[in-house]
Amino acid sequence: MAKIFCVANQKGGVGKTTTSVNLAAGLAKLNQRVLLVDLDPQGNATMGAGINKAGLKASTYEVMLGECDVATARQRSEAGRFDVLPSNRELAGAEVEMVSLENRERRLKDALALIDGEYEFILIDCPPALSMLTLNGLCAAHGVIIPMQCEYYALEGLSDLVNTIKKVHANLNPDLKIIGLLRVMFDPRMTLSQQVSAQLEQHFGDKVFNTIIPRNVRLAEAPSYGLPGVTFDPASKGAQAYIAFGAEMVERIKKM
Ligand code: ATP
Ligand code: MG
Repeated sequence: MAKIFCVANQKGGVGKTTTSVNLAAGLAKLNQRVLLVDLDPQGNATMGAGINKAGLKASTYEVMLGECDVATARQRSEAGRFDVLPSNRELAGAEVEMVSLENRERRLKDALALIDGEYEFILIDCPPALSMLTLNGLCAAHGVIIPMQCEYYALEGLSDLVNTIKKVHANLNPDLKIIGLLRVMFDPRMTLSQQVSAQLEQHFGDKVFNTIIPRNVRLAEAPSYGLPGVTFDPASKGAQAYIAFGAEMVERIKKM
């Protein structure tokens, strides 16, 4: 059975999608079978995996409404060598349309249960909100990966996310854990980055991943070519860091 991880942080632009896409590609390089679920109506993970979000026959939206199963809606990212459950702006409507559905926070969990034997990892790229979509991600997952920039405001909002995770753990999904905080867009030349990074280690101990993702322009350029950074420039520092993070995750799941 796959281990299922949400990549979540309600702050926008902190590196969730870059982490989801490149961790998926990094794990694929380590011969892991991976499904990447795009749970964000922005469809950035879909595009970043090289799939055109405009022409989708089926997507996360239909899956969540029970109109289609994952096996039919998923596509192959040839670039990244993983599968993708793609999404686009239609998914924004699901939020409203699910209101009248039974077990509406468990729609994704139930859909993934039918295919989770086919993968080692299922990664869920969450939208920048603590919404019904994110709640579906948290209900489906064994753990949460929280990407963070090491800047002054990084910790602000973290307590909201941690409290939401605690509530979901207590009421809806006893399996759910914070797997770890991932330091991303790290600039070692900045004293502030070093300070915040040290603070995170002090407060959160082994909940901080060993791997640090540096700020690297190749990671930012890759999506415009429809490629994960890991595939676009495998030798770049950013790609190497995500491959190392993949290896760290493979080790972590052995202990779960
Ligand atoms: P949203 O909240 O809108 O979904 P997000 O949290 O998914 O955003 P990303 O889209 O992954 O964040 O990243 C935001 C921007 O930062 C993008 O332009 C991305 O290319 C860039 N970026 C992410 N990680 C890095 C990095 N390590 N080095 C350089 N640029 C990065
Ligand atoms: Mg995103």
